[in-house]
Amino acid sequence: MSKRLYDDNLYQFGTPQASYWEATASDIAVDAPPLSGDESCDVAIIGGGYTGLSAALHLARDHNVDVRVLEAGHIGWGASGRNGGFCCLGGIGVHRSDLFKMVGVEKTRQFFRSQVEAVELVRQIGEQEGLDFRAQGAAELEVAHTPRAFDRLRADYEVSTQQLGLSAELLDANAFRERHFDSSEQYGALITRPAFGLHPLRYCLGLANAALRHGAVVHEKSEVVNWEKSDDGWHRIRTAAGSLRARKVIFSTNGFMPEGLRPEFYARTMPIISAIIVTNPLSEEQLAAYAWQTRETAANSRRILNYFRLLPDKRFLFGGRGHSSGHPDGERKTYVRLEEMLKTIWPAWSALRVDYHWHGLICMTGSFCPSVGRLDDDDSVYFGYGYHGNGVNTATWTGKKLADWIGTGREPDLPDIVRGMARKFPLAGLRPKYFGLAIGISAWLDRRS
Ligand SMILES: Cc1cc2nc3c(=O)[nH]c(=O)nc-3n(C[C@H](O)[C@H](O)[C@H](O)COP(=O)(O)OP(=O)(O)OC[C@H]3O[C@@H](n4cnc5c(N)ncnc54)[C@H](O)[C@@H]3O)c2cc1C
Repeated sequence: MSKRLYDDNLYQFGTPQASYWEATASDIAVDAPPLSGDESCDVAIIGGGYTGLSAALHLARDHNVDVRVLEAGHIGWGASGRNGGFCCLGGIGVHRSDLFKMVGVEKTRQFFRSQVEAVELVRQIGEQEGLDFRAQGAAELEVAHTPRAFDRLRADYEVSTQQLGLSAELLDANAFRERHFDSSEQYGALITRPAFGLHPLRYCLGLANAALRHGAVVHEKSEVVNWEKSDDGWHRIRTAAGSLRARKVIFSTNGFMPEGLRPEFYARTMPIISAIIVTNPLSEEQLAAYAWQTRETAANSRRILNYFRLLPDKRFLFGGRGHSSGHPDGERKTYVRLEEMLKTIWPAWSALRVDYHWHGLICMTGSFCPSVGRLDDDDSVYFGYGYHGNGVNTATWTGKKLADWIGTGREPDLPDIVRGMARKFPLAGLRPKYFGLAIGISAWLDRRS
C-alpha cells in the first residue's frame, strides 16, 4: 500500500534538483534544524511546500498557534522549489469552459473568485513579509498553436468575460505579435489577469522565513516515517531522529504524498511528472527574430501543453510533460524532447544551449479539482492537495484557508468544487499506466491537429 508510484529517483529527499532556481537562491538561508528528541505542539504540518508553509505562517502570525513544520528534504525540495513560477489562475484539470459545462456557472464563478483571491494573496504576502521573489509581468498568455485552437480559446474567453467576470482579452495573431511575440505556431492568444511570474524557490524560502519570524518552528530533513493517533487524542509523529506530539495535523505533501502514512489518503491522487529546461541567455538579435517584447508567463494550447517564460536574465524557461516512469534514462529523453520542441516552435533559436534541466511531480485528482478539507472520521486531520500544476497561488491559498479553519474553529468559505476528499482512483496501482494511455491518446490528437 505504501509503495511509491514512480522510480525511486523521484523521492531522494537528500538530493536537491540541479535547477536554475537552486542555482539562484543560495543567498537565502533558513534556520530549520531537523527534528530531534521528543517535542510537542498544537499543530504539526507534514510537508514544507507552499501549502504547509502558508498554513504555518498564517497559524503563527494571524492565530498565535504553536505550530511546527516537518519537511523530508530541504525547504523547497518538493514542487514548490522547482516549478515554473507562474502565479496565475488555474488549479483544475479541464478548460474553464468545460468546468462551466460540468458544474454550472455559480460553482465555476465561486472557484475562479477564489483563484483571483489566491493570486492576490501571494502578492500580498510578498509585500507584507518583504519577500524578494522577483515578481515579473502582469498577465498569463495562452497561445493558440493552431487556428482551431484559437476557436477553443474564444470559447474560454467568452465564458471568462461573460459568465465568470474575469479580466480577459482575446488577441488575433497580428495583434499578439505586435504586443508580445511571434513563433512558428502562433494563431492568436487569450490573455488573463491577474497573473505574474516569480522565482518559486525564493518564494518558498521566503515563506519559511516569514513563518519562522512569526513564531512557527520549521524542521527540514525530517521525513515522517510513522504517524499514529493515541486514545488520549494526541497524534504521535516519528522521524528518524525525533518524535512530535500534536493535537492537530495538516497533511500537505501533494504530489509526493506518502500514501501509506494514513489509509484515508491512499489512491486519492494522480501525481504526474513535469519537466523544465532553461537555456543560456538569449541575445537581443535572437529576441528580435520573434519580436519578443513580453515578460508575461505563457503556455501553448496543446493538450499536452508547454509552458514558457523569458526570465529576468533573458534565459528561456520551457516546460512540459515528463517521462511516464521517472526513470533517469526516460528523463534524459524528456529533456531532449523538450529542447527539440522549443526549437521547432522557434527555429531561429537553434543555437540555444540548455544550461539547466530538472523535473518534479504535479498532482491531479479524479475530480479534476483541488481537494481541501478535514477527515470525516478524524476532525483533527486537515489536508490540501491536487492543484493540477497550479499551486503557486492555489497551495498558498489552501494553506491560509486551513490555518483560518484551525485558528477560528469555523469552516472557511470554500468553493463547493474543492471541498472534501477527492474520490479514490480505482485500480490504484495502475495509475501511471492509465495516465500513460491518456497521454498517448492526447499526444496523438495533438499530432493530428
Ligand atoms: C516541474 C513543475 C512545474 C510546475 N509549474 C508550476 C507553475 O508554473 N505554477 C504553478 O502554480 N504551479 C506549478 N507547479 C505545481 C506547484 O509547484 C505545486 O502545485 C505546489 O508547489 C504544491 O505545493 P505543496 O506545498 O502542496 O507541495 P510540495 O511543494 O510538493 O511540498 C510537499 C512536500 O512534502 C514533503 N514530504 C513528502 N513526504 C514527506 C514525509 N513523509 N515527511 C515530511 N515531508 C514529506 C516533500 O518533501 C515536499 O517538499 C509545477 C510543478 C512542477 C513539478
